[in-house]
Amino acid sequence: MHRFSMPAFFKICNVVAILITLGSCSYNQATGEKQFTAFMPAAKEAQIGAQNHAAVLKEYGEYKDAELSAYVNRIGQKLAQYTERDDVKYTFTVIDSPIVNAFAVPGGYIYISRGLITLANNEAELASVIGHEIGHITARHSAQQQSQGVLANIGLVALSIATDTAAVRQAGSLGTDLFLKSYSRKHENQADELGIRYIAKAGYDPYAAQSFLSHLEADSALEKKIKKETGSIPVYFSTHPLTADRVREASVIASSYPKGQFDDQKVEYFRLIDNVTYGDSADKGFVRGQTFVHPNLGFMFDAPQGFEIVNQPNRVIAQSQNAVIIFDGAKKNAAQSIEDYLVNVWKRGKTGYDTPERLTINGMDAAMTSYVATISGQQKRVREVAIAYNTTDIYRFTFVMETNASIATQTSLKDTMYSFKKMSANDKLRYPPQRIKVFVAKAGDTVAQKASIMPFDDYKEERFRVLNGMSLLEPLTPNRLYKTIIE
Ligand SMILES: [Zn+2]
Repeated sequence: MHRFSMPAFFKICNVVAILITLGSCSYNQATGEKQFTAFMPAAKEAQIGAQNHAAVLKEYGEYKDAELSAYVNRIGQKLAQYTERDDVKYTFTVIDSPIVNAFAVPGGYIYISRGLITLANNEAELASVIGHEIGHITARHSAQQQSQGVLANIGLVALSIATDTAAVRQAGSLGTDLFLKSYSRKHENQADELGIRYIAKAGYDPYAAQSFLSHLEADSALEKKIKKETGSIPVYFSTHPLTADRVREASVIASSYPKGQFDDQKVEYFRLIDNVTYGDSADKGFVRGQTFVHPNLGFMFDAPQGFEIVNQPNRVIAQSQNAVIIFDGAKKNAAQSIEDYLVNVWKRGKTGYDTPERLTINGMDAAMTSYVATISGQQKRVREVAIAYNTTDIYRFTFVMETNASIATQTSLKDTMYSFKKMSANDKLRYPPQRIKVFVAKAGDTVAQKASIMPFDDYKEERFRVLNGMSLLEPLTPNRLYKTIIE
């Protein structure tokens, strides 16, 4: 979670809706098709794009690594020279998201997540993704409405999702990407074709697109396995659909270009991704075991054993079979007591809750109330706790449980409430964010041995192989560069 962010996706949805209503017919130089364009003239497109850009930056945050940003921009501008539209000024941004994702918005704004950058294994693969996004812009593709858009209302239904595991999981895996729409399959194939055209013209291996798509497929499969999900689609493929033959098709397109020797710039690529943050950053907070830590906002708490913790942009949700914990932040006036905040702000206009109780949680003033609510047709006991972190910042727990919750459940939720504390300098040292570390394999090094020291509890070898784009039985090659993850 990051604090008090506006739901940028609402704004972007509005912008997209306006764009779609103002279409006109034109001839597209990239695809050679006469098309009904969903977009405004380039100047208007640029203006809208700039507004979207501000909203996207506010929602995700830019990943602050000047050298990496300059590098991504250099690749993007190189590819942009070979596009068919000279009325677009391209802006490339690395966003601070661990989710593997890339997207384009009208006006030439292209975003690549650090999660995607650390999954790629060389410059050519990254270029293939950037080329694909440029392809969507040059072909003036409009993304299509997707059913997941309904989740944009999630703020309104925070309580009713309490009984719906699938919704929590889906919202968690989609993160802040709810406003993104998916392209049609036809547009997806067209963007692949254009992207491969641009990278080939720029001197990259045209097979890099096929190679990166296969890494993405492996990464998605592992992600599903780790989260034990079967139905949900990883973000990149939910916006850029993976048709059954998309990987093969990318290879067919590549085969139409002259064969040659290509320098994939791997050494330079690995130098740039060394030390890049992996997983959630200190800015957004992260989960370690059953603990949620937020080094930048300076707090931490423990969820009970057996609860699955999901870090969303504006809240943290922890859930088990029979209880849900929703955690978020708010503001109060400096003069206002925490009890006054609970009654006159949080519960304003509401009735039927117990008289608030004053508490002290690790030295902080807190107020708590509880009530019975009907959620998705079932009676639940809801307990709400507001904690004054300082004079103006508040953190809140909402505990949802069965009306006849066992003593054990009630005790474990109470323990979570009392585990909330300010992070000390020592705590921050104990919970560093994870990052990518590049190493050169030595003779005798094995995947099992290198994977065993990664800071994960499970699937270590699978994670190592996916991160390095390695097949199931492929051994380490001495003197070759590899990535691993360290804390
Ligand atoms: Zn796409």
